[in-house]
Amino acid sequence: MSTRRYPYSSVSPEEFHKWLSALICVLNSVYFLLNMAILQKLGIGGVQLTVAVFGGYCFYKSSNGLYRPWHSYTLLVLLTLNILLSIAIMELVAGATYWGLALPFWYYSLFGLRKGFVFSAVIVLLCAVVIFLRTDTNIFMPYRTVFNFTLVYCSIWLVCHVYEVQRQKTSAFLHSLALQDDLTNLKNRHALKADFRAIHKNFQSIHMLIIDIDHFKHINDKYGHDIGDTVLTKVADLLMQSTQVKEIYRLGGEEFVILLKDISDEEAQERAEKIRKTIELGIFFSHNEPIKLTVSIGISSLRPEHEFTDFLRSADEKLYQAKHEGRNRVCS
Ligand code: GH3
Ligand code: MG
Ligand code: MG
Repeated sequence: MSTRRYPYSSVSPEEFHKWLSALICVLNSVYFLLNMAILQKLGIGGVQLTVAVFGGYCFYKSSNGLYRPWHSYTLLVLLTLNILLSIAIMELVAGATYWGLALPFWYYSLFGLRKGFVFSAVIVLLCAVVIFLRTDTNIFMPYRTVFNFTLVYCSIWLVCHVYEVQRQKTSAFLHSLALQDDLTNLKNRHALKADFRAIHKNFQSIHMLIIDIDHFKHINDKYGHDIGDTVLTKVADLLMQSTQVKEIYRLGGEEFVILLKDISDEEAQERAEKIRKTIELGIFFSHNEPIKLTVSIGISSLRPEHEFTDFLRSADEKLYQAKHEGRNRVCS
């Protein structure tokens, strides 16, 4: 079975975490060496060594496909403490405050919109307090420094926030394009495969119904392709109304699939009969002329040895049988 993955609309948080860990490992190693060799700042040097080692550990784990979300949280907590501590104890002119300005970008890239917002808000307050306490009290200097820092921080924060909102919208749009059928708005074949994997993990009993419109080619030939499209959309609506389940898919052409969870073979047969009758009694029109429509339905029940393709093939065989026996019927 294909394990196709759909594209993230930018670098994924896992990938971003991996390369950020590498960068943090290298930078903190350099800062650690400088602080120990030249400045003899043992306290901050110790913190930087810890962050560098943890950055290296995260990079190693991510490179081996062993990323865990707690790696990102711990890394960013350590990095944030490192930056706050540097602002608190190093000379302000050395520029540790500039590193604080990079934090919103890292928070949003790793943790998304909501957590990115909360973390950025908490840290701007902490940075402002630390800078205020560190600054010389001459000529309103604490207020002026905090004002300037906060203004630049908030500008960067705003850009990160807007970018993340846009990224999420694009991502959701791409997702819907990849998994949704354009004509009927039902889910498509890719979604069926993905959903099947998820449902298979949680449910023992699954039934698959393949529903195929009978002689649909005649409808296209007689009324035109546009009316054919309208009929497909109406059938999709009727399927949704009559089944009340979310797992309805357009497999392609005039074929639809429904997955039913945790029901008996008899119940699956009854549900399929109900669908068949609903379509048969449903009224479809082309310019006031009624169109007669029927469907044939094949049912398969999931067996332990079934992969997705076996499950689908088994339902397809039953559908073929229903067609062979004269259409407008259910076979299981
Ligand atoms: P059967 O009862 O054996 O299923 O016959 P059928 O005519 O329904 O099946 P067949 O496979 O011969 O024809 C399917 C038709 O569905 C052919 C194709 O033009 C039409 N079709 C496939 N996709 C679309 C679509 O998106 N819109 C329209 N209007 N027609 C489509
Ligand atoms: Mg057909
Ligand atoms: Mg068909």
